[in-house]
Amino acid sequence: MRRAGAGFVEEVARGSARFDGGDLELLQLPPGLSIAAAMPSIETDPAVEFAEPNWIYRHTSESNDTYYTNGSLWGMYGDQSSPASAYGSQAAEAWSRGQTCASSVYVGVIDEGVMISHPDLAANIGTNPGEIAGDGIDNDGNGYVDDMNGWDFAGNNNTVYDGTQDDHGTHVTGTIGAVGGNGAGVAGVCWNVKILNAKFLGRNGGTTANAIKAIDYLTDLKARHGLNLVATNNSWGGGGYSKALQDAIERANQMNILFIAAAGNSSVNNDTSPHYPSSYTNVNVIAVASITSTGALSSFSNYGATSVDLAAPGSGIWSTVPGRKTPSYAAYSGTSMATPHVTGAAAMYASAHPGATAGQIKAAILGSVVPTASLSGKTVTGGRLNVSGF
Ligand code: CA
Ligand code: CA
Repeated sequence: MRRAGAGFVEEVARGSARFDGGDLELLQLPPGLSIAAAMPSIETDPAVEFAEPNWIYRHTSESNDTYYTNGSLWGMYGDQSSPASAYGSQAAEAWSRGQTCASSVYVGVIDEGVMISHPDLAANIGTNPGEIAGDGIDNDGNGYVDDMNGWDFAGNNNTVYDGTQDDHGTHVTGTIGAVGGNGAGVAGVCWNVKILNAKFLGRNGGTTANAIKAIDYLTDLKARHGLNLVATNNSWGGGGYSKALQDAIERANQMNILFIAAAGNSSVNNDTSPHYPSSYTNVNVIAVASITSTGALSSFSNYGATSVDLAAPGSGIWSTVPGRKTPSYAAYSGTSMATPHVTGAAAMYASAHPGATAGQIKAAILGSVVPTASLSGKTVTGGRLNVSGF
């Protein structure tokens, strides 16, 4: 730090046997010193393993025309359901066999905040079993006071929902687990599930440091408190490769937590232009492209024969949003919207197969895809999500 004239900001992760290495610290460079110039100078110190930028990430969806009034949830349909869509996730066929997931299964939404009071979400918002609400005490000793439904790493407080700007996080959550069968609004892939929110995206995006803290927060809930957390949903991306972020994903892998990530919305081949975090090669990563209701690769969707695993519905996806006056619904498009269909699928498989490992859940999801012409040579599996057999 002295050599670069850098200031200490915070400790992002502490070195330990489990965290495999030294402390990870966030530094502030002095004005006029570029990151490119500072990194080699810092890395010459034998006490430093590596130095890298604290990237800025942004969520990966674009709002659709909200005047669109057709509430068709085609992403949930099966080819045998009514209404039907051959290109839906086939969730409706699983539902028809009573497979609507188990409320004992948790998933983490790493994103913006989630409107936990939304009437179509509230019943499926998880609570931290080790914490007591509102007593001002960190009951479970995880470093976060009164983290009942997760934590806001962007604002560093326990209020995960901060207003209508938290629409993206609220939307992806509805696709995973909006309450089904209540005669109102939408249904998620899982009608019952428990969702925790690790908020790290604010109005101006989020940083590597906060993404790492969000991932480690959820990993720790499983590692030290036995929470049955099977997957995290990561509908975000940007920046370049980060060893520190990849290390955090690996810590999740060691705890059998899938890291399900959007492939990105730049219409590019991730094999040649990696998109992070979906392009990390950790075995617990599932990278998700987007298809339309007619089975085409969505025009915006990234792809990759070796780097993107499968596709799921991501164009014109209706789900929960805060709304300007009252909790509402809207159609968004993006690989951000495809990803939570897969996260819901992971929770559904885990519900039907208690004790399944992350590897088993991933194998089931990738092994059940429907071969799809538009995805041949564009994804690892060449197919689209199909949960009809879950
Ligand atoms: Ca706590
Ligand atoms: Ca907050």
